[in-house]
Amino acid sequence: MNRTTISYTDGHIYEFSPNLDPIYTASNGESLTFETIDSLNKEIQSNEDLLHSIPDEVNAATGPVAVEDAEPGDVLKVDIEAIRVNEDQGRVVTAPEFGLLQDHEEIEHPFTRVTPVDESAESIQFNDIDIPIKPVIGTIGVATESEVIPTLTPHDHGGNLDTTDMTEGTTVYFPVFQEGGLLAMGDSKAAMADGEMCGTGSEIGTDIDVTVEVIDDPAISLSRPLLHTSNAWKTVASAESMEDAVASANEDLLELIAAEHDMSITEAYTFSSLVGGLEISQVVDPLVTVRNACPAEYLSSPF
Ligand code: CA
Repeated sequence: MNRTTISYTDGHIYEFSPNLDPIYTASNGESLTFETIDSLNKEIQSNEDLLHSIPDEVNAATGPVAVEDAEPGDVLKVDIEAIRVNEDQGRVVTAPEFGLLQDHEEIEHPFTRVTPVDESAESIQFNDIDIPIKPVIGTIGVATESEVIPTLTPHDHGGNLDTTDMTEGTTVYFPVFQEGGLLAMGDSKAAMADGEMCGTGSEIGTDIDVTVEVIDDPAISLSRPLLHTSNAWKTVASAESMEDAVASANEDLLELIAAEHDMSITEAYTFSSLVGGLEISQVVDPLVTVRNACPAEYLSSPF
């Protein structure tokens, strides 16, 4: 397939806001490749390179790309078809005042461990331990409704969601808040655990193949991102507290279950307590991000 490549050298952002200038306008249904730089802008290249503080400019998101026909109230569908690492090493780091155990006395802040990519590009190495490469897009989102939100922070527009399901084979649906939607992404990892406890995965540059499509006048309006993985539908919510995040993710899922099965919200709530469940995306960004999964056998596309 002949794809246009959008590179971080063409344009990238460090803030999602309502007023973003597109560097490219895609047709509805176009397939693109986003070339991304690692979240730390290539500044960490050896174990001796340390992150003494979180830089002002972090998580460069390639784009933004406008999509023709996208209007506020629509849904932007992004099929993530492939993610390829485009450099020969990643890096996992700690930094002062960052991460889940930032006050732990025995844990060094800062600390860097470079994770080389093996020749087959199928695994990375931590010390002498092989870890299969399973790329994750850390930061992906659209122009916001009204706020200016750094690419370090997740919210209803997406942003720094650091969600392991944001990978090959997943379709992600975003609410469209501004004309064109204005999609941007970056901050990829070669591998990352649910939770991203130390504050990073194996941060690495990637080439990401996607197809973008506008869902006009959707049957269900979205407030936040929604994922369709190989086997489940997952609502995604971010908030300052875990309690608020899981409440929003559950509320979003109830609407989908109620609409699909013609249930009351109470029926949907009790049903949601039987299948799938809550999953932790990340706890460090500085809001927390969670998802509420429902197996695909119980939900079909709401659009
Ligand atoms: Ca991130």
